[in-house]
Formats: sequence, structure tokens, C-alpha cells
Amino acid sequence: MSPFWTKDPFQALEKSIGKGKVFRKPEDLAIYGMDATKLCGEPVAVVLAETTADVQETVRFAVKLGISVTARGAGSGLSGGSVPLDGGIVISCERMNNVEIIDPKKMTAIVQPGVVTSELQAKVAKFRLFYPPDPSSHTISTIGGNVAENAGGLRCFKYGVTSHYVRGIEYVDSDGELKTTGLFTGEAFEPDMTPLLVGSEGTLGIFTRIELQLLLMPAATATIAAYFATREEALHSVEAIIAAGIVPSIMEFIDRQALKASASHSNYQYNENAGALLLIETDGSEEQCEIDARKILTLVRKTAIEVQTGTVANEREKLWKLRRGISPSLIKLATGRIHEDVAVPRSKIAALASEIDRASEESGLSIPVYGHAGDGNLHVVVLFRAEDSKESALAVKVSHQIFKAALNLGGTITGEHGIGLAKRNLLSWQISEQTIGLSRKIKQIFDPQGVFNPGKLLPEPPIVEK
Ligand SMILES: Cc1cc2nc3c(=O)[nH]c(=O)nc-3n(C[C@H](O)[C@H](O)[C@H](O)COP(=O)(O)OP(=O)(O)OC[C@H]3O[C@@H](n4cnc5c(N)ncnc54)[C@H](O)[C@@H]3O)c2cc1C
Repeated sequence: MSPFWTKDPFQALEKSIGKGKVFRKPEDLAIYGMDATKLCGEPVAVVLAETTADVQETVRFAVKLGISVTARGAGSGLSGGSVPLDGGIVISCERMNNVEIIDPKKMTAIVQPGVVTSELQAKVAKFRLFYPPDPSSHTISTIGGNVAENAGGLRCFKYGVTSHYVRGIEYVDSDGELKTTGLFTGEAFEPDMTPLLVGSEGTLGIFTRIELQLLLMPAATATIAAYFATREEALHSVEAIIAAGIVPSIMEFIDRQALKASASHSNYQYNENAGALLLIETDGSEEQCEIDARKILTLVRKTAIEVQTGTVANEREKLWKLRRGISPSLIKLATGRIHEDVAVPRSKIAALASEIDRASEESGLSIPVYGHAGDGNLHVVVLFRAEDSKESALAVKVSHQIFKAALNLGGTITGEHGIGLAKRNLLSWQISEQTIGLSRKIKQIFDPQGVFNPGKLLPEPPIVEK
């Protein structure tokens, strides 16, 4: 028998997992080499896995060949997490997109990792069930990617992030073996490793099935759009709503620049005198929803220059289209964008916004700001001319200035998009060497051969002098 690597080894992989799953054309490699950051890597092959066995075979194959594997959902990540770094294989889970079980009694669902978030939400809604995690990318992103990034989203203030809904994970380890955590382990009494895997950004194993907790669908929902003359008045209203003991499901803040861009992108008539818009949603029983909506209206009307309400689906959808249109609308404004997701304690949002204004004035770069005000989680988009190398370098400097401002205010360099490739070398600004060292040990235990998603999450290892 000829040695494994003398022929094209990928023919052997194709033979074992079946035709039509292994792709090696440059155009395929290019598409699967980048995510929404536009950071690029060059995989040696792309595998569109259809079964758990395909994932296992591919991992074993990669280990045998001494190359890496990078799991991929939809590639909507904003930290370079699914960008393959060292010529390894990309395993895309997009074809593993079955919702296997929806159990209305237990209020759980078991899904494959490639299920698109909004499709799961629509499927469980038929059983009057509700999967709350709601990243703005929910019509593209996958559950596997959401779990790997511990995705947040619009409804976090009331409902929490993805980790609050993951009950168990089945995953392929670095030997190609199938392992389980949480509810998948049945009655076995053993420590639950689920929290270690959620947010692991594809560095500890590849998820093949995920068990999710569902809630009962709220009976009613109301959306309120409140325009304010100033950003400070909008943020003050957020505080006033919370101080009144109301827990809205969503409180989105949109500044003047982001509002203008999204409104013109989606042809939406908005109040052009506004310095900021708050989009607030409340849900629950019909009665509770109405009580909360009334209280919110009373509070925001104290300072808002215009207030709109939406209780029927199409009115609400128009308002949410405006919110979801921000990111695509900003693409039109500049050839270069650094899209960051800093978060600070909610009471510090105004202070962070002032620091961002200062950075914008000093650099001359536009920096629209929007995001999940209830959680202090802000999307800060530094716009620049990518064709101008000086301006590109300035934009990076400005984004670092904003990270430092967030950290000085007791916040974080990433509220929800993850560390990935983009922020790995900034992690030590926020986390002690001791904690980074502990994370390296966990990685070593799960993935001793370093096959999964190398070059992500943890900073480059220090050079050891011999
Ligand atoms: C317009 C826009 C809006 C966004 N809004 C939000 C938001 O509100 N909240 C938020 O949190 N994020 C948001 N994001 C970022 C992104 O959508 C999320 O990080 C999402 O969870 C990524 O899912 P994905 O399927 O695209 O994963 P990918 O980008 O393909 O991968 C992300 C990470 O998950 C890993 N991964 C993927 N599948 C698996 C698997 N089966 N097993 C193990 N690891 C895996 C990858 O290796 C990678 O590290 C937004 C992005 C865009 C473009």
C-alpha cells in the first residue's frame, strides 16, 4: 500500500466521507477563508459536513496529516473566529441544519449546529415556545456559531445570553471521538463541562448536537420608538425605566449618525431633529405588557421629542428593520470599518460616549454608535478610507483608544463578538497572565495536538528562551 500522503490525500478523505463534500477550488477556499470582519485565511480544503461521522472522519484525517481544522457556521462572526490561519481544513456545519427534536413538555430542543438562529425561533414558535437569544445577525448566524461565541443580542437585558439556554453539547474531540456534556450525558453523575465549551470559539472541539432550553412564548409584545434631542436624554431615560422597576425585553440605543445611515438605507421616515433614538420592547402577558408599555410611555414622554408605538406585527417589524439595517447601512459610508463591541457598566455609557466623541474629534474620523443600552453593550464603528494606509493605521489607533476607555470605565473589550483573531493580542489588557495561563492549560487538556482553530482566542504564546 502506498503511504497515506503520496497521492492527493484529499481523495482519501472524499472516499471516506463521500462525494460532493470536499472542496478545493480557489474560489471556494476564498469564500470560506473569511468572516464578516473580512480578515482572510487560506484553507487547504473546505468540508461541508453532513453528518457527525463526517466531522469525526475529517478531524481524524487532519490529525493524521498534521494540519488544523477550523469549524464554521455562517461566517457572520465579527472577530475572525472562523478564519483558518495555517492552511488547515475548514469544516462548515451549514448542511448539518436539522432541528432534531422539539419537546414541548420539557421545553427543550435538540439541534444540529448549522441550524440558522431565526429558523429555530420560527420552528419553536409553532409550539408557542420561545428561544430568546437574538443576535442582530439571527437570520444568518447558526446555533453552533452562537454557542461557540456565547452570542448576545437585543434581548439580553431581560433574557440573558446564549449560555443561559445551553443544556448540553455533543462534540467531536481532537481524537475524532464523540463526547457529551450536560443533559446529553443522561443520568451520569459527572461535572458539567458545558460552560467550558460555550464561548470556546471553536478551540476545544466541534459541536455536532446542542440541547437548548426554551421558554413559553410571551402572549403579547409592544414596541416603543422614542426620539430624543440629545444622547444624554436618551440614556437618562434608560436609567429612569430601570429605576422604575420595569424590565423591558429590549432597549436599543441608536445615535444620530447610525440613525441617519439606517433610515436612508431602508427608506424610513424618521425625526431628523433627533440626536438619538431608543427602541424599547416589552413583552409578557397582555395585561403586564400593557402596564409596562404605559409606564414606559409616561417616562420617555418627559423628555422625548417624538414617540411612536407599535403593537401590531407590521408596525413593529418596520421599527426593527431600522435597527437591523444599521450594520449594512454603514457599509455604504466608508470603504473601511472597524466594528467593535465594547461594553461598560450601564451607568458609564454616557462617559464612554463622551470619550468616543473626543476620539472622533481628535482623529477626524466618523464613529457611529449604537447597541444594547440595557446591558451597556455598545457597537462602535470607526469609519475610514481603507485605501489610505495612514488613515487605516489611525483607525486602529482610535479603536485601541476606545478599548482603553472602556476598560478604564470598568468594562470589557468585547461585549459579545468574541476575541477570535482580531483581539487575541489585546486580551492581556483585560485578563491577568495567570488567567490566560489557566486557559492555555484547559486548551492543552481538550486539544493536546492543537488541531482546533489555532491562533484564536488566546494571545500568541510567549517565546521561551532555551
Ligand atoms: C450584521 C451583524 C450583526 C451581528 N449582531 C450580533 C449580535 O447582536 N450579537 C452577537 O453576539 N453577535 C452578533 N454578530 C456576530 C455574529 O453573528 C455572531 O458571533 C454569531 O454567533 C456567529 O455565528 P456564525 O454561525 O456566523 O459563526 P461563524 O462566524 O462561522 O463562527 C464563529 C465562531 O464559532 C466557531 N464555530 C462555528 N460553528 C462551530 C461548531 N459547530 N463547533 C464549534 N465551534 C464552532 C467558529 O470556529 C468561530 O470561532 C453580528 C454579525 C453581523 C454580521
